[in-house]
This record gives sequence, C-alpha cells and structure tokens, in this order.
Amino acid sequence: MAQRLLIMGPQGVGKGTQAALLSKHYGIPAISTGDIFRYNLKNGTELGKQAKAYTDKGELVPDELTNKIVKDRLGMDDAAQGWILDGYPRSASQVEALDKMLKELDTPLTAVVALDADHDVLMQRIAKRAKEEGRADDTPEAIAKRLDIYAKETAPLLDIYKSRGLLVAVDGQGEVDQICKEIITKLDER
Ligand code: AMP
Repeated sequence: MAQRLLIMGPQGVGKGTQAALLSKHYGIPAISTGDIFRYNLKNGTELGKQAKAYTDKGELVPDELTNKIVKDRLGMDDAAQGWILDGYPRSASQVEALDKMLKELDTPLTAVVALDADHDVLMQRIAKRAKEEGRADDTPEAIAKRLDIYAKETAPLLDIYKSRGLLVAVDGQGEVDQICKEIITKLDER
C-alpha cells in the first residue's frame, strides 16, 4: 500500500532519523521542510534569503513561503508513490493548507507517526547535535524558542489527527532500529 505519512514530535526526538529509515523501507521520499530551508540558505537562493530571518531565530517561516514549497514538492514525480513529511505541518493553518493540497491531489494521508521522549532526553540529543552539526539555529535561545513553539502550536495538532483515526504513537526513546521496527509493524497492521 502507498504510504503518505506525517512524522511529528518535538525537536530532538529523532524524526529525521526515522523518516530516513522509513523512506528506505517504503521506497518513498522523506520531505523535510527544515532541510529544504537549510539547502536554500546554504545556496543563497531567494527563498533562503527570505527564510533566514526566521530560521536563525527558531521562529516559523511564514505560511505563504512554507505552504508553497510543500505544494511544489508533493507535485514532483518521485512523490507520486507516497512520501513522508517531516517538520510540516507545524500550525493549525498549515494543517488546513495541507488538507486542501491533498484534497486537490486526491492523495489522503495514510497515517501520522507521533514520536515522543522525556524533556531531558530531548535536551541531551539537541545539545549533542548542536556540537556535531553546528546548525545556526542550535543556539540555546533558538532551541528554547523551537521547543516552545512545538508545545504551543504543533503538539495540539496531534489531537486533530487522533480524532481522524490517523495517529500512530511510538516511544522515541531507545534503540533506533527497534523504534523503526515498531513504527513499521504498527503501520503495516493498519
Ligand atoms: P527543523 O529542521 O524542522 O527544526 O526546521 C528548522 C527551521 O526551519 C524551523 O525552526 C523553522 O524556522 C523552519 N521551518 C521548518 N519547517 C517549518 C514549517 N512547517 N513552518 C514554518 N517554518 C518551518
């Protein structure tokens, strides 16, 4: 069955890692809005220039820009057999925008994978990544901002997907392969 998935959870929970493994397993692209912004920043594109003020501070990039990059990406050929969206939607208005896009494409979501972990574990992982990758938005202020936005704007969205019967909740603590196995088992059971 074609999978059209969201992967949701706080920063540091391992969304990117699991999205990459699921991408390989199902043979579908993992689409990360954060990665798309970082790529454009690095290459100094117009989109990168417009997004920079927001990404540097850990704030959300305005919807007009964000929704458009997702719409364009979902329309590409390699997305015809399914996809995993990582880092989108992050607000109620983005849920609405995504609903509209998927209706137009006639490609409904198949599931929403929600990962979670204790606050201490998240902070440790983010600090480790900051050291390894040196992301511009891994400053203490930007990290705090992102976690705050997640708690206030993004976490409540899980209830929307739960009420639609799409939520697949998995503990994001533990061994990477084991977590991936659990996600796949739960997805394939549906
Ligand atoms: P991430 O790698 O998912 O943490 O994203 C890095 C940064 O990109 C975020 O802090 C935002 O500035 C921006 N970004 C990524 N996804 C979105 C989104 N769905 N809506 C708005 N801004 C986003």
